[in-house]
Amino acid sequence: MPRESETGEGAWATLLGPLRAEPSKAAILTDVDGTLAPIADRAEDAAVPAAAREALSALSERFGLVGCVSGRQAEEARRLVGLEGIAYAGNHGLELILPGESEVRPDPSLAGREQEATEFIAGFDAAELEAIGLRREDKGPIQALHWRGAEDETIAERRAHEIAVTAGKAGLEPRWGRKVLELRPVGGGGKDAAVASLLAGEGLDRAVYAGDDRTDLDAFRRLQELSKVGELVAAVRVGVLSPEGPAELTEESDLTVGGPSGWLAILEWLAE
Ligand SMILES: [Mg+2]
Repeated sequence: MPRESETGEGAWATLLGPLRAEPSKAAILTDVDGTLAPIADRAEDAAVPAAAREALSALSERFGLVGCVSGRQAEEARRLVGLEGIAYAGNHGLELILPGESEVRPDPSLAGREQEATEFIAGFDAAELEAIGLRREDKGPIQALHWRGAEDETIAERRAHEIAVTAGKAGLEPRWGRKVLELRPVGGGGKDAAVASLLAGEGLDRAVYAGDDRTDLDAFRRLQELSKVGELVAAVRVGVLSPEGPAELTEESDLTVGGPSGWLAILEWLAE
């Protein structure tokens, strides 16, 4: 039975109290785009507000782990968030940068398949895709097609659906986000795997994860599983709502907020 998500500071205290009580055992995990950074018309124009950066920095001094889990490449997520001492899981969990490390660790399950999505996309006429407003983003093992801002977003999205079907037949896994289709090798990664790797650190037994999109539901579900088997004594799923977000987000959240400013308010409250 999905629990009804709650709002308001009273609910924060009830749900997040265990994290504030034992910060050294707690992980603060957050998606980046649409959760920390407001969605921009073009992904490259997105920015994390200074207040959010400051809150994460303050939290990283007291909490066991602060980690950003993003669909962007790990180094790109780090550039956008602009903090060194925290963890980054990039490319939906295919890449990991641990706190204090500069090297990106690729997901070993991808070995030998890094080029599959690139080779698949190369089979399409780049000019044709561009003409209908499908912009390609090269994220290494993941290739993304964005249609936000296309002259006719419906036409561009329909083409993306056709490409997704072809990609599935070619052995790739299509994943949908907010006005974006991502093609990736089957298996490996996922925000669920990212959350599991990040929480595998010593002594972490409570966590919060905030996200705004479909891929974040994978992270929610893993959090829930870890809680069921007793690896987490507290697991809080925060849904950052938007008109573009998936309907299941509210259903699967313990707590909902209205956009990145709502999540920032919780981060600041946790850092108090
Ligand atoms: Mg997001």
